[in-house]
Amino acid sequence: MFDLFSRGSRVRGRIASAPPPSDPVHDAGSGGMEAMIDLRGISKVYETDAGAFTALTDIDLQICPGEFVAVVGKSGSGKSTLINMFTGIDNPTEGEAIVARTQIRALDESQMAEWRGRNLGIVFQFFQLLPGLTLVENVILPMDLCGVYDPAERRERAMHRLAQVGVAEEADKFPAAVSGGHQQRAAIARALANDPPILVADEPTGNLDSRTAETIFALFEALVAEGKTILMVTHDRELARRVPRVLTLADGRFVDDVNASASRHSKAVSYTHLTLPTIYSVVISLVAV
Ligand code: ADP
Ligand code: MG
Repeated sequence: MFDLFSRGSRVRGRIASAPPPSDPVHDAGSGGMEAMIDLRGISKVYETDAGAFTALTDIDLQICPGEFVAVVGKSGSGKSTLINMFTGIDNPTEGEAIVARTQIRALDESQMAEWRGRNLGIVFQFFQLLPGLTLVENVILPMDLCGVYDPAERRERAMHRLAQVGVAEEADKFPAAVSGGHQQRAAIARALANDPPILVADEPTGNLDSRTAETIFALFEALVAEGKTILMVTHDRELARRVPRVLTLADGRFVDDVNASASRHSKAVSYTHLTLPTIYSVVISLVAV
């Protein structure tokens, strides 16, 4: 039997075995702690038939290891574009993204695939499981692609992941044969297949009923407690107000960074003089805009 978190295990908010940063850029802007996600002056301009469209403007963001961050904002405010900028799905027009100590821009395409496979798990609103593979085969796939773990143990590891998210009994079914909630759980298991330190989720509960959304959220909370760093884009105000740090995007800029433990983040608004219920009501009113 092996420990699913053996590679990623750490004390909350601290990487247990991280070497000191080799480049000072990594250690700046996060109160002395090396940021897990470090975005500096990111802008994104799309060239369209109607002309240039600025989707993100001068985004600075530092997310520490073990943080759980929600990004909220109206449709079209730039949330998915933001995710694309630090997952290597797309390139910023300006600025730097340093994620898990790696300068994203420096990676070529094959390095990017390998790096992403080991460092990032990505969960989407519509699950995006491969329909021709069973749930367990979907979870094994990233292990095969990255060549992590001995081939003989990949299936057992994948089964552990499915058990962790509560769908082990559905392992040999195809995605179409299980509910949306179970598909999303399997997609989370797939995102965790290579035990990445970071989980990024773009509207992960957007296609689920509220009870199922609640179970997915509880799963994220458990993963943060295990040491994962999670950035979740959501439209769900009820869920967002339960996340310790909530960032609001409007027209490609952050208009608020509300942090329940503001002291660690130089850019966060300090709400430490407020009681927790008051903080929550501030967050609710912000996401209600
Ligand atoms: P959100 O995820 O918050 O709904 P997006 O990041 O998807 O917003 O989009 C932000 C803005 O950028 C929107 O106005 C959208 O139309 C525009 N946009 C997104 N992707 C492209 C693209 N590939 N080409 C042109 N415009 C785009
Ligand atoms: Mg989006």
